Amino acid sequence: MLDPARTVAELRELQELTGNSDGAQRVCWTETWARARAWVGGQLAALPVDVEIDEAGNLWATLAGESERAVLIGGHLDSVSNGGWLDGCLNVLAGLEVLRRIAEGDRPAATVRLVDWADEEGFRFGRSLFGSSAASGSLQPADFRGLRDSEGLLLPDVLAGYGVELDRALEAGSQLANAAAYLELHIEQGPVLERLGLPLAVVLGTYGVERHIVRFRGQRAHAGATPMDMRRDPVAAAARFVLEGRRIAGEAGSVTTVGTISAPGGIVTAVAPVCELSFDQRHLDDASLQAMVGEAKEVSERIAAEEGVEVEWAVQWRIEARPFHPELIDFAEAAIVETVGSAHRMPSGALHDAAEVAKAGIPTVMMFVQSLRGLSHTREEDTRTEDLDASVRALDRLAAKTIDWVAQRGP
Ligand SMILES: [Zn+2]
Repeated sequence: MLDPARTVAELRELQELTGNSDGAQRVCWTETWARARAWVGGQLAALPVDVEIDEAGNLWATLAGESERAVLIGGHLDSVSNGGWLDGCLNVLAGLEVLRRIAEGDRPAATVRLVDWADEEGFRFGRSLFGSSAASGSLQPADFRGLRDSEGLLLPDVLAGYGVELDRALEAGSQLANAAAYLELHIEQGPVLERLGLPLAVVLGTYGVERHIVRFRGQRAHAGATPMDMRRDPVAAAARFVLEGRRIAGEAGSVTTVGTISAPGGIVTAVAPVCELSFDQRHLDDASLQAMVGEAKEVSERIAAEEGVEVEWAVQWRIEARPFHPELIDFAEAAIVETVGSAHRMPSGALHDAAEVAKAGIPTVMMFVQSLRGLSHTREEDTRTEDLDASVRALDRLAAKTIDWVAQRGP
């Protein structure tokens, strides 16, 4: 029988074992992380599952079903330093509980696999989604080869100590050969569900991101001697542009952030010569995202012309949106409604392992459970016990629906 209270107790036990007064310390590729892994391994040993570690260091527990086609339930035991007690490990321990419930019954119609992805957070070496991007095939070993931790140790050397050869990490892709669906429960890490007063949401996908540096160039000129209508002021242009960015995001029903803004070479007694800002635009739909970028570029050129300055855009980072699977979204919504009465639909602003799995073409969906005060990656991260309980029940219902769906679809 599904026992969500056991999941909550196990989360507390794991926090005792791998955290301290500053929070969770399960940073990947450390002894504490290995201790968390060993603890989960001990729980899995009581179940009729095959456990293996793949070439990227991901842990897989497989419960064989009538069909080899597999429903994957994923999460990550690793945390940031001084992290929260739920981010990532709720997913793994809730999945463990679902696996126990299924293992008690008849052989499931489809194979069920729990995966604990290696190094989702990327805390030690500054690159996230190591294990899932290796499995999806998007990992480029060259990008990781030269990474060092804060003590100067090289990533390939540290990973070798955990049995992972960087150059073979992509072989983890074979784990997805029979994957027919991927499910992930996660804390929301934001304030939306708390504001709505709802415990659970179905996640529609992860945002596409377009991040640029936008630079306005004007003319340095004396603050006292230059009349207002004769200035070529890049700061004024940037200020207008920031507000236009907010308008464009609002009209697109999405988000845009200017996280940094500076006037290099500026002094207090002159119009600044340059003003540059980071401009991060996101949307769940790639076409809408491109429309947002296009409109912002047009607006920046119009403002530049009106202010007598020049504007240039430089791409800093971009990733395409990863919409989740429509049928799995419906199953997740139904599972949540059956558990707590109503479900919210929302995109994920943060990236998750699920985005990598979706990129590999595997039908994917996520569920979010409410985060109190929207906090995560801190020891203050928390979720009400009754909401954690509901999240395990909803994940279990989603797993049951997905197993039936996978079995009916056939090979
Ligand atoms: Zn996480």
